[in-house]
Amino acid sequence: MKRRDFLKGASMLSIGALATGCTRPTKEGTANITRAICEKDMGLQIYTLGHELYAGDLSANLKRIADLGIKNLELAGYDPADRKIGGIARDEFKKMAEDAGLRIISSHVNPPTIFSGAAGRENRTGRDGYFSGEMKNDIVESFKQIADDHADLGIEYLIQPMMPKEGINNTNDVKTFCDTLNATGEEIKKHGVTFGYHNHNMEFCKVNENSSERFMGDILTRPYVEGEQIIDIMMRETNPDFVKFEMDTYWTIMGQNDPVAMLTKYADRIQLLHVKDFVVLGESGALNFQNIFNKFFENGNQYYFIEIEDIDSGKQFERLEKSAAWLAQQDYVK
Ligand code: MG
Repeated sequence: MKRRDFLKGASMLSIGALATGCTRPTKEGTANITRAICEKDMGLQIYTLGHELYAGDLSANLKRIADLGIKNLELAGYDPADRKIGGIARDEFKKMAEDAGLRIISSHVNPPTIFSGAAGRENRTGRDGYFSGEMKNDIVESFKQIADDHADLGIEYLIQPMMPKEGINNTNDVKTFCDTLNATGEEIKKHGVTFGYHNHNMEFCKVNENSSERFMGDILTRPYVEGEQIIDIMMRETNPDFVKFEMDTYWTIMGQNDPVAMLTKYADRIQLLHVKDFVVLGESGALNFQNIFNKFFENGNQYYFIEIEDIDSGKQFERLEKSAAWLAQQDYVK
């Protein structure tokens, strides 16, 4: 094939298909595009891929991720009960990721005492997503093993991705919850890992001081009250030495807040970013990713992770390929 014909053919392929992985030599004619991808520090929250990540050969699937230009991973699926990641031994998972050219930066783990996932079946209440201040010591205790396991993996961040909706409704409840977050972060720091909290939209609910109701409910159906947003109390009541934040762009707008305003107001607290749109990145036009990324980097941050919901769609790899290709083309993304 003549060089001119090759380039013509190449231009019709998607960037994702052109990328040959940042750890391997680039093909002639694709070097510029591949370089544009490889110069970026793209990350992926593996929750995005759901069962597609483990379908067939995990090792091959991790290489497929790297071939999209992704370098960093944030885990989901560590189970405190078996101490594995998605059923795979931790060191085995790490080796496969590293062999693919991927670095594991962060990991999402919910306190098993609060959320009765596989590890929480024996929690004292038997209720899922329930919190009370009395659970603090058990929660901190449960994080010791979790932090040890993540320190062994060489992971920088351990992120709590949720808060319980039951047991938190007024300012005092939020303060009690923050007291537990502080104690958790202090313990995790002893293991050489940084603790953080990841938002959904529930943290943008306003506290309801005059209700005896112990269930937060949903922000969209919750009765309007004059009060402070839970997230603002959390930022004030958590200790910056022990608790960092990972902002999810999609859930912030679903909480009726502006991601750029959050990054401006909490410049010294938000260290990680979930880059999330409604489905494929850049398609909805609902999020100004240029302003979000500019502020995020201006604040001195580095790590961001693509995330896409609807994990059972069967189209997650396809959506990830489109999202990574779109991100690779944005010159404001580092
Ligand atoms: Mg997220």
